[in-house]
Amino acid sequence: MRKWLSLLSLCAVVNTFGQSPALIPTVSVNYVANAGLMVTQEDMKVLFDPLFRNSYGHYELPPKAIKAALFANTPPWDGIDAVFISHYHGDHFSPEDILRLLVAQPGVHLYAPSQAVTGLQAITGIENKSILKRVTTVELAYGDEPVTLDLEGLLIEAVRIPHSGWPTTRNEVENIAWRVTLNQTTTVLHMGDADPNDVHFARDAEYWDIRQPHVAFPPYWFFNSRFGLEVLSKRVKPGHSIGVHVPKSIADDPLKRPHDLRGYDLFTEPGEIRKISPKQRSKAELKAER
Ligand SMILES: [Zn+2]
Repeated sequence: MRKWLSLLSLCAVVNTFGQSPALIPTVSVNYVANAGLMVTQEDMKVLFDPLFRNSYGHYELPPKAIKAALFANTPPWDGIDAVFISHYHGDHFSPEDILRLLVAQPGVHLYAPSQAVTGLQAITGIENKSILKRVTTVELAYGDEPVTLDLEGLLIEAVRIPHSGWPTTRNEVENIAWRVTLNQTTTVLHMGDADPNDVHFARDAEYWDIRQPHVAFPPYWFFNSRFGLEVLSKRVKPGHSIGVHVPKSIADDPLKRPHDLRGYDLFTEPGEIRKISPKQRSKAELKAER
């Protein structure tokens, strides 16, 4: 079985670099809430913005059952390899809950912008100081070159994209778009609360060209803005996109949504799961190439 899996991975590596899509394993995406989700491929599990406490009256909160499973290290929320935080806002990051997760799951590595890490350090008592060894701070100013990090089985790339509201508000928020490749096979992109202006993406055109995500998770406002759609189609070029950060007021039923959000795949129900099969992905990839 192990041998078969390595052969599978080997074929899939070839695929990552642009050859025919053949043996890519199915990827599961478990939606937590707001911009929180888990991507699983084979034995690799990563989380993005999974734990937060503030809905600001508009967004879903992580279901109690998911939080409980994360803290109890029970399937399918067990054995998490890495957690990525886009930025320190109350609807994306709770230092208290992330500390609890780091204590509960000793295999977790955390990657976060410095504002979030400072928040975590401030509440970490002496008894838990050792967990900070599993925390990697990404300090990126707007305009800095993207950075690349490695963790066993993960290629991690990060770039700062301003928070929505740019250039008039929230410029100080360190918002990181994480592009993560699992087992050298599947690349996903989580964008946090990215502003959809192409000026942020054009400056790193080569970076976006070099590795196109199989699945991207843009905030839903990329879908109802002409600029956001252009960034997705001309820069990011994902095989498939699933919109996140969807307000509770947007219906699960696409026909009941505002017209400009009907044609897109959105996460709206906490706990829902998408399986992205090799066939679906290769179809999406072909569509993206057109
Ligand atoms: Zn935010």
